Amino acid sequence: MGGCSRSDSGTATVGVPAAPAFPAGTNTWNGNEKLLRSEEEWKAALSPERFRVLRKHGTEAAFSGDLWNQHATGTYRCAGCGLDLFHSDTKFESGTGWPSFWKPIEAGHVGTTSDRSFFMNRTEVHCARCEGHLGHVFDDGPPPTGLRYCLNSAALLFEAKGR
Ligand SMILES: [Zn+2]
Repeated sequence: MGGCSRSDSGTATVGVPAAPAFPAGTNTWNGNEKLLRSEEEWKAALSPERFRVLRKHGTEAAFSGDLWNQHATGTYRCAGCGLDLFHSDTKFESGTGWPSFWKPIEAGHVGTTSDRSFFMNRTEVHCARCEGHLGHVFDDGPPPTGLRYCLNSAALLFEAKGR
């Protein structure tokens, strides 16, 4: 296979941090049982940056995350619990420096709350199962939904789809 010019050195996951291993089946959810842990348990399970974003409603600096410029085909899962949240088919280049999507994989996988912090009136977005903070949703996105889910890379795990 020496003549093969295609790079096969794992390029599909360049720039993507090592993903925690989630048990099989954690990417789906029947909507019944939430995955709730104490703050200490989350702290032990997550990297400091993931903990800050997911559990403390932190926001990573624009263009600083691993996923805003990720264009491979695959699934974006919750970094807290492994639930499938968004698919690359609905990701778009928003120019903001944060990974942006116009629709969740399943409406029931993503919850929203009103966020009036910093004297703004925004809609916060979180994982419906573990309640981890993902980012915010705005109504200036592209068709067909007109929504812009502006998320933190640190809240997500990208799982490239095998070709
Ligand atoms: Zn989650």
